[in-house]
Amino acid sequence: KRSRDQFDEECNLRVAVRIRPMNASELAIVGCEDVVRVKDKQIIVCPPKCSSQNVSMDHTFSYDHVFWSIDEKNPLYAKQEDVFMTIGVPLLNSAFKGFNACLFAYGQTGSGKTYSMMGRNVCSVNDIDSEEFSGITPRFCRELFKRVSELDDDCTVSVDVSYFEIYNEKIHDLLANTTNQSGTSKVPLKVREHPILGPYIVDLTSHTVKTYPELREFLISGNRNRAVASTAMNDFSSRSHSIFSIELGQSRSLNDTDNSRRSKVSLVDLAGSERLGSSTNDERMKQGVSINKSLLTLGKCISALAEKRKNHFIPYRESVLTWLLRESLGGNSLTSMLATISPSSSHLDETLSTLRYACQAR
Ligand code: ADP
Ligand code: MG
Repeated sequence: KRSRDQFDEECNLRVAVRIRPMNASELAIVGCEDVVRVKDKQIIVCPPKCSSQNVSMDHTFSYDHVFWSIDEKNPLYAKQEDVFMTIGVPLLNSAFKGFNACLFAYGQTGSGKTYSMMGRNVCSVNDIDSEEFSGITPRFCRELFKRVSELDDDCTVSVDVSYFEIYNEKIHDLLANTTNQSGTSKVPLKVREHPILGPYIVDLTSHTVKTYPELREFLISGNRNRAVASTAMNDFSSRSHSIFSIELGQSRSLNDTDNSRRSKVSLVDLAGSERLGSSTNDERMKQGVSINKSLLTLGKCISALAEKRKNHFIPYRESVLTWLLRESLGGNSLTSMLATISPSSSHLDETLSTLRYACQAR
């Protein structure tokens, strides 16, 4: 097994798992129990005592980071702030060094992806900046502007943001001026490939921001458009990926030589992983529910990258999400995945499937 230091040096893929607390509806299910334990950087899933499920022994998984939500005395206990410090700050460091970075939140619907990425109430200005509830994305953006203000005067910085979602392999701008009643741009946008800069979305709006409050307006307006879309379309919030992307430009003129860096950070709240659950696939296929192509391809790309074999084929082009993020996956980019799970026995199958997906990346 590789040591921690070697891992940091060699590998730009990091995987963290966060366990949310039990919620009221889980607690109300008769016979529902807590089946997840944590120890060091390991997660142990124990079969429920009164089990009708086909899990008979403990399963142990290890990751780069494990975030526990109950019992503050546990060393793995992590608040929103701790999660940001552990996985958000390295992304920011990477961006300031001029490297791309991306973070994916992966897990079944209701497991805490949006809570972790954005916060509790994502459409409210107060909540999005609340010390207790603010998620990785707003913290990342606040810290980014803080660091920009600390740079010396000969450094010129630009920050541009865009926010879009992928639903059924189609792209919709969440910040376009003309949105329809379902909160997104009317026509799906197309992806093209620039010979040098790589894949990009034609006509996606990009917004230059000079301060954090200015950026926050775009964040909240995109979140509102997502909420509108979820009300208008059944299944939208569980089946769409949302991507908030921040482009950081830094230029510094030293001895008349222009020294400039550009980097892009993509913060991705993925579609619910429940349709990938292996044990339930057959049933869902029969019901005609399509498996999320971008999620499947992301899994393939990440496991291919984790293997790091020379000339190993990485199937970026097989889905819209991976094609678009190609420049942020692999190479010098820092890629992080935050897998979110419920501790409850009522979600045991989905939890095991999420933990396995997250293990591919290690
Ligand atoms: P998802 O985006 O994966 O569908 P959400 O982020 O919307 O799930 O979370 C579902 C519910 O659980 C929300 O009410 C959210 O506030 C709550 N929740 C999720 N993660 C946590 C956590 N770590 N601590 C407290 N509450 C959480
Ligand atoms: Mg969500």
